[in-house]
Amino acid sequence: MSSKHQLLTFVSLLETNKPYLVNCVRIPALQSLLLFSRSLDTNGDCSRLVADSWLELKLTDSESAVQLLAASLRLRTHWEDALDQQLSHQAWRQRQRQEEEEEEEEEEEKTLSVSHQEVAALSKELLQFMATKVPYSLRRLTSLEAQNLYLGPQTITAAPSVPGLFGNFTLSPHPTKGGYIVTDFLTYNCLTSDTDLYSDCLRTFWTCPYCGLHLPLTPLERIAHENTCSEVPRDNATGAEEAPAPLQKASALQRPYHCETCHKDFLFTPTEVLRHRRQHM
Ligand SMILES: [Zn+2]
Ligand SMILES: [Zn+2]
Repeated sequence: MSSKHQLLTFVSLLETNKPYLVNCVRIPALQSLLLFSRSLDTNGDCSRLVADSWLELKLTDSESAVQLLAASLRLRTHWEDALDQQLSHQAWRQRQRQEEEEEEEEEEEKTLSVSHQEVAALSKELLQFMATKVPYSLRRLTSLEAQNLYLGPQTITAAPSVPGLFGNFTLSPHPTKGGYIVTDFLTYNCLTSDTDLYSDCLRTFWTCPYCGLHLPLTPLERIAHENTCSEVPRDNATGAEEAPAPLQKASALQRPYHCETCHKDFLFTPTEVLRHRRQHM
């Protein structure tokens, strides 16, 4: 167990005027896998994670595992929103330039570029995330393990025991892996494991520092309560109240998109278009 595994990663930061600023930096393997994996699968208490169905991460402390996962969810959402906004803005400027050549009347600026404050906030969040030190182990799964990775579709789809675990995301059952879809890359509680039943029952008495609730809870139930507790001050650190705004912004950036490969029509943001095209490569 160590927190020093490192992967060499390309980090591109959004800049308003320069097209791109690309840096090659060493960042911790755990964090980069949480940020860049196409798929992330977890067990019930998130102490075991599998990235892209072949790299296994094990963390000793499930509470910090859930917190890191939640932070990576926030970062990925912010990052994608910023990228969508930037791409839409560039597309708008291009149209504007063409129209100027055709001497048509000027259109009001509809899509704003990403502000310096937003870029600064995102960079700060990213640095904090990267600086988090959590002991974990990293290994490649054997092919046998990779074949028996998932619980598979569940006939009885009970509601997840900890609905508030990932904040405002609505969880829906995953049709093939089992467990629950949190986002397009994250599936919660779909990994086979022997310890789930045990850790599910391991409750200790806990008092909520905000509302005084006193109950025997598992670490996950504690986090779920803190995410939904009405007494928790939510001004800056958690970003819980900022969450709905970027989502609305993202849907406003959706445009009709026709895919020439699968001949289907979609309503996509620019990053969704890129992700969809990647499926056909
Ligand atoms: Zn509370
Ligand atoms: Zn397609």
